[in-house]
Amino acid sequence: MRVLIVGNGGRESAIAQKLSEDQRITKMYFAHGNATTEQLGENIYEKDIDKLKHFAIQHKVDMTIVGPEAPLVDGLVDEFKKADLCVFGPSKKAASLEGSKAFSKKFMQTYNIKTARAKTFDAYNEAVEYVKDEKYPLVIKASGLAGGKGVVICENEQEAEATLHDFMIKRIFGDAGIQVVIEEHLKGFEASIIAFSNGEKLFPCISAKDYKKVGNGDKGANTGGMGSVAPSPEYTAEHQADFEKNILAPTVEGLKKEGLSFKGFIFFGLMVTKNGTYLLEYNMRLGDPETQVLLPLLENNLLDVIQDCIDGKNVDLKFKNQKAVCLVMCSGGYPKNFETGFEIRGTEKVKHSQILFAGARMQGDKILSDGGRVLNIVATGDTYDEARKKVYEDAVPVDFDYGFYRDDIGKF
Ligand code: ATP
Repeated sequence: MRVLIVGNGGRESAIAQKLSEDQRITKMYFAHGNATTEQLGENIYEKDIDKLKHFAIQHKVDMTIVGPEAPLVDGLVDEFKKADLCVFGPSKKAASLEGSKAFSKKFMQTYNIKTARAKTFDAYNEAVEYVKDEKYPLVIKASGLAGGKGVVICENEQEAEATLHDFMIKRIFGDAGIQVVIEEHLKGFEASIIAFSNGEKLFPCISAKDYKKVGNGDKGANTGGMGSVAPSPEYTAEHQADFEKNILAPTVEGLKKEGLSFKGFIFFGLMVTKNGTYLLEYNMRLGDPETQVLLPLLENNLLDVIQDCIDGKNVDLKFKNQKAVCLVMCSGGYPKNFETGFEIRGTEKVKHSQILFAGARMQGDKILSDGGRVLNIVATGDTYDEARKKVYEDAVPVDFDYGFYRDDIGKF
């Protein structure tokens, strides 16, 4: 069997690692992959959806799995399906639940999905009027995709007006910010739930927690994720019951009624407050770095689960009764300006963990940094502390110029 995985991050490395244990897979292609995927298969440097489709036809790819949001929002799945290719992921229309926050908020409101109170605006003047009477802090979101930077928590009216001006007049995110969603600020802790969809039902994995801020103690700028753990230590069975009743079930109903049902992954970004579990956002894909901690704990064969979902069958997900910790090593300066091209040394000395490269590429027999989030160190254990110790012990010999990481991932 031949598989194509679209994406080039730590998430795609985790998928590749898991699938590489499957004897039925004879070849894995990655578009465009990284240093881990190059060692497990073949990286192909193609982004254009049409060319990828022709590649899949020509190379007799049996299954395509899409990692990141951009190709989904751009309609990769629709194009592949037109050519009768087997692909796991949502249609362009369903991907709008991630690609447009206005669309997803409307969906949540229509189907009584528990979420923050919010209003959508297309006109700058009306938005400015609205923020005058709102309580602070107040959350302003660019509706379109803004690389995780389109959400601002405003402390007062001046900040809110400045943010609206940046988004709607200066258009710092281009078209992504011409429509905004303004919503109440929720206080609590965040949790991530990822579910498999078989086109009819959703099958949730155990919870995960990601560490979004660049600095220890959750200080500093937002990032793509500095680490993750699974399961989330704070997320209880009570929170899960609340999620299933008030978020998961009405989402299934809404997907069906709106004709958005799909076979793929759906990610629920949750805020757990003292008034219950709220949905902040949908991502129509696996999370990064949540995938890196969920897949090592998944007991099922991943290929079987995906194939069953594609065939419309129910799946019975089973997870090890263990903890997983993922530490992300980054380029100095990330998430702002950083340099790449530095040699990564010492990964052969790693003893207890798995190295999953992300922004890293092979050059001859060397591995060079090639992005902001360079590599993931992942370990499992019976306790968070056991997994955490393995990860941090293995981080010591791994080195590249100006590389850095947080010291508190998995510390509770
Ligand atoms: P991501 O980078 O996860 O894709 P995003 O840019 O798509 O994020 P959201 O997930 O909606 O946008 O928001 C980003 C972050 O902003 C959340 O993870 C959360 O920390 C914060 N946030 C969003 N909405 C709220 C809210 N209503 N109240 C409090 N914090 C919020």
